[in-house]
Amino acid sequence: MENFLIKNDRAWIELNFNNLKHNVFEFKRIIPSNTEIMAVVKANAYGHGIVEISTFLNNIGIDNFAVATLEEGIILRENNINGNILILGYTDIQNIEYVIKYDLIQTIVDYDYAKKISSLHLSNKLKCHIKINTGLNRIGENYKNIDNFLEIFKIENLNILGCFTHLAVADSLDEDDVTFTENQIENFYACINHIKSQGYDTGKLHIQNTYGTLNYPEINCDYVRLGIGMYGIYNANNHINNSNADVDLKPVLQLKAKISSVHELLKNDFVSYGRTFSSDKNMKIATVCIGYADGYPRNLSNKDVVVLINNHYSKIIGRICMDQLVIDVTDIPNVKCGDIVTLIGEDSAICAENISIKSDSITNELLCRLGDRLPRILI
Ligand SMILES: *Cc1c(COP(=O)(O)O)cnc(C)c1O
Repeated sequence: MENFLIKNDRAWIELNFNNLKHNVFEFKRIIPSNTEIMAVVKANAYGHGIVEISTFLNNIGIDNFAVATLEEGIILRENNINGNILILGYTDIQNIEYVIKYDLIQTIVDYDYAKKISSLHLSNKLKCHIKINTGLNRIGENYKNIDNFLEIFKIENLNILGCFTHLAVADSLDEDDVTFTENQIENFYACINHIKSQGYDTGKLHIQNTYGTLNYPEINCDYVRLGIGMYGIYNANNHINNSNADVDLKPVLQLKAKISSVHELLKNDFVSYGRTFSSDKNMKIATVCIGYADGYPRNLSNKDVVVLINNHYSKIIGRICMDQLVIDVTDIPNVKCGDIVTLIGEDSAICAENISIKSDSITNELLCRLGDRLPRILI
């Protein structure tokens, strides 16, 4: 991006690092004193900007990071992020040498994967954590296959620094789900203890994501892997804390855009592609410089979704386009070109939780789809 361009030209993301710091300290308050935070910054830090977020976290003392891909790990190193960086997902065997080169930590996704790595001639031992599948059935060697784990621990070119599992329903407080989660935790430790009893060092242990941390704070692991909660987002509507923990999380991100044009709409005129909106009266409408190419979901079209402008709610009308959308400003005074619209923010009508529900999704998807085209601006 050219440096001479102003960043808030058309559409952008504003990041509030006071809120990020606040959230980190809220989690520190509820986790055991010996437990460290592993900041999950995959998917461009849930859309917030991986470099901006990780650099700030590094500066306030966070030195454990988790990413989904090798490339995300390399981005962190190329931007001088210090500390441990765990790749939570699969890396192709052909790229394993780059995991070593950039001093990253690879997840061992199962026994077959470990065997493949054992046959490689590597420049150094591969730093890794072993993923233990305790019921999510996505990646991880099944906790029951103790012999396979013991074989993994014998592999010469692995430097095993930790073991972890991932919870399937930690966000649910239903009795049945709580039992399921408790079983996952129990099976994880049974597997760990078995490996230890054979004389192996299982290294750093970790189980909890955001809701694992909020609902099961008594688990005393080496790390908690914090994603969505660190960004100040709950997974219920109205930004309400729906967990067992007494925390107050504050959203880090706001999505904003400028108005390009304000004009009159006559009764029976149409707005946007497909003519899905027609006016039943004379109206004043404004066009906003943001669309689905920026990650604002197209399926919010014609769903009575609002944006904030000059402290007023304004409804989106007609279809959301790739780069633009149109709002009804009939009852809002003095709207003009260059005015700023907030599409995702703290206000409950436009909080990430409610916007994601209206687009039939979850906050994680809404946020991580926010596009590369949006500059991230620190406030
Ligand atoms: C994405 C991810 C997390 C973070 O989950 P949140 O619910 O966003 O906190 C933790 N662990 C693993 C394995 C993940 O893939």
